[in-house]
Amino acid sequence: MKWDEFAGWGHKVADWAQEYHQTIADRPVRAQTEPGDILNALPASPPEGPESMEDIFRDFEQIVMPGMTHWQHPRFFAYFPTNATPPSVLAEYLVATLTAQCMLWQTSPAATEMETRVLDWLRQATGLPEDFSGVIQDSASGATLAAILTMRERALDWHGNTQGLAGQTPVRVYASREVHTSIDRAIWIAGIGEENLIRIPTNGPQRAMDIASLRKAIQADREAGLKPAGIVACVGGTGVGATDDIAAVAQVAQQEGLYLHVDAAWAGNAMICPEFRPMWAGTESADSIVFNPYKWIGGQFDGSVHFVRSPEDLTRTLAISPEYLRTHGKDGIINYSEWSVPLGRRFRALKLWFLIRAYGLDGLRKRIRDHVRWSQQLHDKIATTPGFEIVTPPMWSLWSFRYLREGFDPDDLNLRLVNAINDDGRIYLTQTRVDGDLVIRFQAGQFDTTEKDVMMAWDVITEIARGLE
Ligand code: PLP
Repeated sequence: MKWDEFAGWGHKVADWAQEYHQTIADRPVRAQTEPGDILNALPASPPEGPESMEDIFRDFEQIVMPGMTHWQHPRFFAYFPTNATPPSVLAEYLVATLTAQCMLWQTSPAATEMETRVLDWLRQATGLPEDFSGVIQDSASGATLAAILTMRERALDWHGNTQGLAGQTPVRVYASREVHTSIDRAIWIAGIGEENLIRIPTNGPQRAMDIASLRKAIQADREAGLKPAGIVACVGGTGVGATDDIAAVAQVAQQEGLYLHVDAAWAGNAMICPEFRPMWAGTESADSIVFNPYKWIGGQFDGSVHFVRSPEDLTRTLAISPEYLRTHGKDGIINYSEWSVPLGRRFRALKLWFLIRAYGLDGLRKRIRDHVRWSQQLHDKIATTPGFEIVTPPMWSLWSFRYLREGFDPDDLNLRLVNAINDDGRIYLTQTRVDGDLVIRFQAGQFDTTEKDVMMAWDVITEIARGLE
C-alpha cells in the first residue's frame, strides 16, 4: 500500500469506526467465541507476497471482530472501563501518523512540553498541590514499579542499583490485601521479595488499612533490624473499591520517614469532581500517586498519570544518560524517559489534550457524576430485590452483590449466574472474592452509557437469576 491510497482507506476506516460506535449496543458485550476459534481462522504461515487492503479489511471484519469484547459498549459493567472518545481516537490516529519516539526533549519538544502542560492541568483538575510534577507512564503497573524502586533506593541510601540487594538489610513495604497485584509484581521485580511485602489487615466498610496494625508492623520490623521503606495505599481498589484513610497513612509515613505511594488507578479520575476529594484527603502529603485517565475519563488506553513530589528522587533511581542520549547546549529541558523504566515513549499527551479541550472539565465531571448516581440507583434496586444481597457498598460507581437461593451453594450459584449473564451478551459483569466468598461486581463508567443502560442491568440480572436451575 502506498501513501496515495491512504486517505481513501482512512475515510473507509473512519466511516467504519463511526458506524461501529453508533451500533455497538446491538452487539453482545463479551466476545461469544470459544478458545481457538480465531487462532484457527488465521493462516498458520505468513504470506510471502503482499495482500490487498480489501482482503485484509474483509478478514478484519469477518475473523477479528467476532472475537472482540466491546469495551466501548454502553452496557460494559465488568472490570473497570477503558474509555475512548472521538477526539482521543483522532489524536491517536495523528500520533500513529507521526510515530515519534518521544524519549527525549529533543526527539520531539512538543511532546515533552505538552506532557508537562497537560499533566499540570490534571494536577489542578484533581486538586493536587503545586509541588507535584507529573509524567505519563505506560501503565499504573509501570508507575507503581517506579515508585517501589524509588522507595527501595531511598531506604538503601541509593546503593541498591549499584550494589544489588544481596547482603543488604531486607527492605520492607506495607500494603493491605486490597491493593492491585501490580504492587506484588513491582515488589518481585524490584528484588524486594514477596515476603517483605507486609500485609496490613483492613477494617470498616471501606476495607481500609488498620492504622494501629500498620504502626505495629513497622515497629516490629525496626526492632527486628529490618528496613521499612514505604507504604502503598489504595484509593478504589480493584476488587471492591477498598480505600485507605490516606491522611492517617500519610501521617504514619511522615512520622516514620517512609515513602508513600497512592494507587488510585480508577478512582483518581473521580477527583476531578471536588465532592469526591474527601475520599482521598491526605493524598496531598503522598510522595507519588497514579491514576489511569483511560479507566474513566476517556483518555483512552494506554497511559497512566503519575504525580511525584520529588522528580529528583525518581530520576536518581531511573536516569541513565549515555552520550548518545544527551542534549547539549539546552538548559531547563526534561527528558521524560529518565522518569520511567522504558526508554521509548509514545506521544500520549496529545490524546489527553484533545480530550480535555473537546469536553472541558465540566463535560468530564458530568459523566462521572452520572455514572455514580445511576450505579447507586441500581444498587438500591438490587438491595430491595428478594434473593439478592449487597456484599460491599458503593464506592463511587462500584459495588458487589450475591444471589442466594435455598439449597444452592452460593459460590457455585453466583459463578453460574455471572457466566450465564455474560453468555447472554446484553450486559457484561465480572466476579471477585470478598472474605473468601465469590461475589459479582458491578461498575458503571463507559462514556456513552445512559441511565436506561444501567437500569437494564436489573432486568437482565433478575431474569437470568430466576431462570437458573
Ligand atoms: N491499580 C488498580 C487499582 C487497578 O485496578 C489496575 C488495573 O485494573 C492497576 C493498578 C493496573 O493497571 P495497568 O493495567 O495500567 O497497569
